[in-house]
Amino acid sequence: MKVGILALQGAVREHRHILHTLGVETVDVLSSCDLDGICGLILPGGESTTMGKLLVRYGLLDPIAELGRRGMPVFGTCTGLILLSKHINHSDQYRLGLMDTFVERNAFGRQLASFEADMYIPVLGKTPFHTVFIRAPYIEKADSNVNILLRYDNRILFAEQDNFLAAAFHPELTDDTRIHAYFLEKAAAFHKI
Ligand code: GLN
Repeated sequence: MKVGILALQGAVREHRHILHTLGVETVDVLSSCDLDGICGLILPGGESTTMGKLLVRYGLLDPIAELGRRGMPVFGTCTGLILLSKHINHSDQYRLGLMDTFVERNAFGRQLASFEADMYIPVLGKTPFHTVFIRAPYIEKADSNVNILLRYDNRILFAEQDNFLAAAFHPELTDDTRIHAYFLEKAAAFHKI
């Protein structure tokens, strides 16, 4: 099983490291040929306006959106969560638009631009997950087909919708592999089809 990591920007190496720890082959995605034969794709953090423009320039926006609509699992962290969303408040920036979510960018204000916290995420079991937020967005609201995996202070920080998974934080910046393993279950299910 091979999983792609969008390699235009962001913590590509850290995502790769976690996937290798979990025994999965990876490919850095820089062109549409790199999408051949992958059974899941990770969209790392970065800056979503720039990454959206790069997706268009590299001819990746439509092919990735199409694969996502056909059921390929896509996991977005931070900027990736923004790109997955159909609605981005106050912005007409490029996006994949695959999840029925409304996203607010840079939502935690200057004081809280970056912070870390231990969060209890029921789907991962009893041990809290160490979440790292960097100029993070959040999901303000979501349609009923979106399954909310973590809500804190009335903000949705982790959610899934069918083959899509989105985190406002950066699980790749910890040693905890549980969220990537959770995503790989979706990729493995897609692989079997
Ligand atoms: N604030 C960034 C954006 O709007 C996201 C930050 C991140 O990915 N760490 O794209």
